[in-house]
Amino acid sequence: MIRTRFAPSPTGPLHLGHAYSAIIAHDFAKASGGEFIVRIEDLDQSRVRKKWDSQIFEDLEWLGLSWARPIMRQSERAEAYSNAIDKLYYNQVIYPCYCTRRDISEAIAAPQGGSLILQNPDGIIYPGTCRHKTKTNTRPKDQALRLDVAAAMVAHDLNDLKFIEIVAPGHSKTININKNSNLTDIIGDIVITRRDMAPAYHLAVVIDDMEQNITHVVRGEDLRPSTSIHVVLQRLLGLTTPFYIHHPLINDENGKRLAKRNDAKSISTFRSQGASPLDIRHMIGL
Ligand code: GLU
Repeated sequence: MIRTRFAPSPTGPLHLGHAYSAIIAHDFAKASGGEFIVRIEDLDQSRVRKKWDSQIFEDLEWLGLSWARPIMRQSERAEAYSNAIDKLYYNQVIYPCYCTRRDISEAIAAPQGGSLILQNPDGIIYPGTCRHKTKTNTRPKDQALRLDVAAAMVAHDLNDLKFIEIVAPGHSKTININKNSNLTDIIGDIVITRRDMAPAYHLAVVIDDMEQNITHVVRGEDLRPSTSIHVVLQRLLGLTTPFYIHHPLINDENGKRLAKRNDAKSISTFRSQGASPLDIRHMIGL
């Protein structure tokens, strides 16, 4: 059975772009008698607000969507993430990192750092300063932890990573992640958990998609580069890779991507101006 999800972060109002993503995921599952779920990605507690959390469900209901329950909230899943981190640490594919942001920029700026500054979806690729420091047998609980992508490649045979992208109904394409590029250059040693022990979005999302039996991950194409990271983590944790649908983004009239702070395009603003759910569908070309 097809299971899709919409996984918003309650850090602002849902806008047309969210409506587009949620409707596509919802309709895709429902068209084949499948299930659609909503997962609240509220790991970044400093930006999460209760009011946005409840507004999400109000807006989705108003749009005419229905979802399976119970609702999963990432803030309640610390144990599942911690178990996965333990497993990665035990398998020696993550290591503690003591660097500050400043240490990282200085290491990158140093002449021996090389001239090419590589980027991954999180920003600048970590120069590896802490990679070879002595590691303790038990996982340190007060340090950021990073993926040792080179060690992971050796230990888990990650030479032929791919995922299947559904590009149109009944039409799919295999995306080779590292056929022509090296994982150390496209992903690097990403953060798996921060110093305050909050797990990275990348880790939480693969664990939750598996836990919720998501068969098709439907989300914006801005997240396509992150999918490479997710496939790596799925392999390291022994999880199945779902199918992916990365849909185009909804832009504003100036061609710029809609952001959460763009209140003018929020669903609730349109609602208060008298728009109907069908009007919203028309605005986003559905
Ligand atoms: N929580 C993410 C966001 O609101 C979406 C993550 C995903 O769909 O994988 O942008």
